[in-house]
Amino acid sequence: MKLRETNLKKLSESVFDVLIIGGGINGAVSAAALSGKGVKTALIDKNDFASLTSQESSNLAWGGIKYLETFEFALVRKLCKCRNHLIKNYPSTVKEIRFFTTVAKGFRFHPLLIWMGTWLYWVIGGFYTAKPKYLFKKTIQNEEKVINTENVTGGFEYSDAYLHDNDARFVFNFIRSALTSGCVGVNYVEALHSERDPAGIWVTRAKNVISGEQYTIRSKTLINAAGPHADQFNKITKQPTQHHLALSKGIHLMVNQITKNKRVLTFFASDGRLFFVIPMGTRTCIGTTDTVVDLPTKDVTNEDREFVLNNANNLLNLDPPLQKSDIIAERCGVRPLVVEGEQSTDADWMQLSRKHAVEVNYQENYLTIFGGKLTDCLNVGDEVSQIIKKMNVAVPFPGYKWYGEPDEATRERFFHSARLGNLDDYTSSDSSEKLSSRLWRRYGATAFTLLEQIQENPDQAEVLIKGTEYIRCELLEATHREMVTKLEDFLRRRSKIALIEQKETIKHSAGLMEACKILFGDQAEERMNEYF
Ligand SMILES: Cc1cc2nc3c(=O)[nH]c(=O)nc-3n(C[C@H](O)[C@H](O)[C@H](O)COP(=O)(O)OP(=O)(O)OC[C@H]3O[C@@H](n4cnc5c(N)ncnc54)[C@H](O)[C@@H]3O)c2cc1C
Repeated sequence: MKLRETNLKKLSESVFDVLIIGGGINGAVSAAALSGKGVKTALIDKNDFASLTSQESSNLAWGGIKYLETFEFALVRKLCKCRNHLIKNYPSTVKEIRFFTTVAKGFRFHPLLIWMGTWLYWVIGGFYTAKPKYLFKKTIQNEEKVINTENVTGGFEYSDAYLHDNDARFVFNFIRSALTSGCVGVNYVEALHSERDPAGIWVTRAKNVISGEQYTIRSKTLINAAGPHADQFNKITKQPTQHHLALSKGIHLMVNQITKNKRVLTFFASDGRLFFVIPMGTRTCIGTTDTVVDLPTKDVTNEDREFVLNNANNLLNLDPPLQKSDIIAERCGVRPLVVEGEQSTDADWMQLSRKHAVEVNYQENYLTIFGGKLTDCLNVGDEVSQIIKKMNVAVPFPGYKWYGEPDEATRERFFHSARLGNLDDYTSSDSSEKLSSRLWRRYGATAFTLLEQIQENPDQAEVLIKGTEYIRCELLEATHREMVTKLEDFLRRRSKIALIEQKETIKHSAGLMEACKILFGDQAEERMNEYF
C-alpha cells in the first residue's frame, strides 16, 4: 500500500496528541519538532504540502535588512540569528550569498548612508557572514555589465542566504523528517470542522479532496497552521484571537539566466521597495510586488507582470528587453502579515509586522501560528513544542535536535563512498553540479540508499525527463517516500522542473510518460491530462 493510503487509514484509528492543520513551513516544522520529540502527531493539508505561500517566496533566509529603516532592531537581531542558525545547520542547503545593490540618483538615502547601515546589519548579525563592501559606480560597471548604471550613483554589497533547492523542497524535507519520526501526515485532506467533545478531545471532520471520503480525526490538542487561511479556520473553531491577518500579494517571474554571477542583484523598484534578481540554476527569478489583497490568491495580473518587467527593463541592460513571452513560469503568493489587537490594517503597510505570533488558548488546548517567515522556522518549531508540553502532553524526548543535515562524519562517509563508486562519472544531466553534491543536498542520509541503487544498476542514474537533472532513482524515491499524489507535486515542489521549463516544453519532453508511469502506475495518463 502506498504511504498516503496507509496514513489515510491511520487518521481515524486512534487519538493523536496533536493534529496540525496546514503543511506549509509553519505546520511542517511543528510536525518535525513534535514527532521528533516523540509526540504522537498528525498533519493534514487540503492541497499538497507547501503548495500555498511556502512555495512562492523569494527563497531567501535573510535577517531583514529593510527593517533597519523602521528601527526594528530586535526583529533584525532575531532574524539574523535564525539565518545564521540555518546556515550552520544546513551547510549544503542554506548558503550565504552576496547582495549586489545599486542605488539610483535622488534615492531617499545616499548610498554611503545605506552602506553604513549594512555595517550595522553585519554587526547585528554577529559578524557571521562576509563583510559589506562599498561599490563605486565604476566597480558596478566593471563587475556586472548587465546593470544599467545610467542613473546610478553608487552601491554596496552585503551577505544574506538563499535556499539552494527552493522553498517547497526545503519545507518538504521537514515533512519527510516528521514522517520518518512517525507523524501521520497526509496531503489533499481538508479540515472542514473541529470542535471539542465533552471529554475535551478535539474532533475534526476532514475530507479527502481526491476521493471525497470523510474522516473523523481525534486529538488532545489542535494547531492551526493554515497560513493565510488561519483567521478563516479560527472562525470555524470559534476561537476569538488577539491577532489577525492582513494579506499582501507578491509575485516573481522566472526567466532565462540574466547573469552568470551567482549573487542577488538588488535594486529599489519604482515604488521604493526592494527588488531582487535572484539566481536559480540556469534561470533567474525576478520580483517582487507588494499589493494589499482581501483573499489568498494565485492570480498574477497584467499589472503585476508589467510592474516586474518594466522595473527589470529599466534597471538592467537587456537587449532585447524582457517581454511577456520570455516568462518561463510565474510565482504568486500572499504574505500573511500579523495585525495585533486594535491595530488597523489601514496603518502604514510597512508598519505591519513581518514576525510570527503564536496565540495560545490553554483552556481549550488550541494554538494558532500567525505570519512568520521561512527564515524564522526553527524558532517556530521549538516554540510550538514548548507550548504543547505546557498543555500537559507528554514529550518523551524534549532535548531531541529535530533539524539540521546529518553530521560531518556521515557527510564525509557519503562523499567517500560516492568517490569509491565513481558516482560523479554519471554526467548525463544538464547540470554542472556533481551528482554526489546534488543527492546529498536533497536527500541527506537517504543519499546512501540512492548511491547503492546506482551501484547495483547504473540505469538508475539515467536522467528520465530530458532537459532536467532528475534521475531514475530520484523518481522512485519520490514515488515511495514523497507522497507525490498529482504530477504538479513532483514537477513544482519535490523538484523544480516546473519553475525552470515552460509547460509546453515539459509536455513534449522525452521520458515524461515513463516518469509518470513510475510515479502513478496505471493512473499515469490520467495524472498527465490533469496537469496539462
Ligand atoms: C512573495 C513572497 C516572498 C517571500 N519571501 C520570503 C523570503 O525570501 N524569506 C522568508 O523567510 N519568507 C518569505 N516569505 C514569507 C513566507 O513565505 C511565509 O511567511 C510562509 O511561507 C508562510 O508559511 P505558512 O506555513 O504560515 O503558510 P502556508 O505556506 O500558506 O501554509 C498553510 C497551509 O495550510 C493549508 N490549509 C489551509 N486551510 C486548511 C484546511 N482547512 N485544512 C487543511 N489544510 C489547510 C494550505 O493548503 C497551506 O498549504 C515570502 C512570502 C511571499 C508571499
